[in-house]
Amino acid sequence: MVSPTSCGSKQSGPGRTAFVFAVGWQHGLVAHFDLCVIGTGSANTILNRRFAKHKVALVESGRFGGTCLNVGCIPTKMFVYPADLAETPGPAAGLGVDLELQGVRWEAIRDRIFGRIDPISEKGKVWREKSDNITLISEEAHFVGPRALDVGPAGTVTADRFVIGAGSRPVIPDLPGLGSVRYLTSDTVMRLDRLPASMIIVGGGYVAAEFAHVFHAYGTAVTVEADQTASR
Ligand SMILES: Cc1cc2nc3c(=O)[nH]c(=O)nc-3n(C[C@H](O)[C@H](O)[C@H](O)COP(=O)(O)OP(=O)(O)OC[C@H]3O[C@@H](n4cnc5c(N)ncnc54)[C@H](O)[C@@H]3O)c2cc1C
Repeated sequence: MVSPTSCGSKQSGPGRTAFVFAVGWQHGLVAHFDLCVIGTGSANTILNRRFAKHKVALVESGRFGGTCLNVGCIPTKMFVYPADLAETPGPAAGLGVDLELQGVRWEAIRDRIFGRIDPISEKGKVWREKSDNITLISEEAHFVGPRALDVGPAGTVTADRFVIGAGSRPVIPDLPGLGSVRYLTSDTVMRLDRLPASMIIVGGGYVAAEFAHVFHAYGTAVTVEADQTASR
């Protein structure tokens, strides 16, 4: 990772090739790369052996690994399985098997999930940091000119080629009164401290539907608000 306090040079170890980027990069100079990849979600998977001889900048402003790993497909599916288990007594009774749900331990479910996911993200980050040809820049990137990217305190990156894998992010709808209440998004709801007694889910897409199933199964009273404005 390049930070404002590091000097923009790669560490070298026994048997590893070191190369040094523009000295003083953090003081306004520009570092040039063969390839610059923005985002560590699916874009991170592009960087395989074919790019081993390329000088690559990998820029990530959030959690390493992107949406699917950290706040998307993977954790949601890990919440869905316990939700399906919690709802099993209903259909099981119709088959002549009487089960009883004794409780749902939200903290245990949440901690198991992120206890597995967070180390994967961290390992991926460390692996890239140790790479000889890739410089991981943990900053938000903004294009400031043709093939020129401002990466905050880390300086400016130019590159022959760019891959933009910046994904998407939750949009806060313009709903009257929303600003006066505490609300969560799909990025934050999975790390709640406690299971809420009730919840209004604004939206009618698959993400909303999935969270409605999960929280309902865990015992939260869920209302889904999915009119055309909300689900846009
Ligand atoms: C709750 C939820 C459940 C989902 N479930 C499924 C599912 O079951 N199946 C499925 O196929 N899809 C699912 N998705 C969608 C899937 O997660 C996304 O389509 C996919 O992760 C997008 O990948 P990406 O690489 O395009 O972007 P991302 O994975 O979002 O990666 C983009 C990265 O770029 C970084 N970034 C953005 N802007 C900048 C910047 N200016 N500078 C530096 N870095 C930047 C971000 O921090 C992020 O890490 C789900 C999404 C959500 C939110």
